[in-house]
Amino acid sequence: MTENLTIAIDGPAGSGKSTTARLVAQRLGYAYIDTGAMYRAMALKALREGVDPKDRDAVAELADRTRIELKQQDGAMHIYLDGEDVTEKLRLPEVTKAVTPVCQVNRVRQVLVEQQRQIGRNGAVVMEGRDIGTVVLPRAELKIFLNASLQERAKRRYLELRAQGLEIPLRQLKKQMAQRDKQDMSRAQAPLRKAEDAILIDTTKLTIEEQVDKIVNLAKSLSAEDRNGQDS
Ligand code: C5P
Repeated sequence: MTENLTIAIDGPAGSGKSTTARLVAQRLGYAYIDTGAMYRAMALKALREGVDPKDRDAVAELADRTRIELKQQDGAMHIYLDGEDVTEKLRLPEVTKAVTPVCQVNRVRQVLVEQQRQIGRNGAVVMEGRDIGTVVLPRAELKIFLNASLQERAKRRYLELRAQGLEIPLRQLKKQMAQRDKQDMSRAQAPLRKAEDAILIDTTKLTIEEQVDKIVNLAKSLSAEDRNGQDS
């Protein structure tokens, strides 16, 4: 196993973050944390409680009485909302729609960022999201910013949804994605941006295997540097 590094992976929707982060964690024997899923679980809670996702006060109040847990099961990460496994429900289009306003509520971010920092504290973790390198784990040893062209990202999401039996026109996905990118980058709280010390990887022409290899190799060379530093 590679030393207990903390690896932060950020980037826009469809950049291949989730799959890449999961496989990098597997290869290194680290925990994989999908922070987007935590925000999605909070959005699902709002929908279930009949709380308007745009009602900031009501959503903030919700954040203080919601328990979100991550559990590693059969090699995959499962998300529990108040004790119930909701992993399968988090990618539904209504949750995707509700998560944008929900993740902009300060109290939601405070509660979840605190939890994410606790999880990242001991290292041996690959955490992915939008603000991991900039806000959640600013001292992460390895920061990666993944990006890809809008066309390619929308195509990936189209294929992913189709595999789940949802046929949504590519053009519509592209428009939604462009909108979400804009909201993610321009919002006041923890906007999506590359940390200055993050390594940019453009995945438009890379396979998942290639991007995983790149990151695993970077992690390994960091660990080797660490060991050499300690030896001398
Ligand atoms: O990555 P995913 O699409 O699952 O993220 C769901 C939503 O949560 C996105 O709209 C994103 O803006 C938000 N998010 C966030 N901060 C994170 C991870 C995701 O605001 N660290």
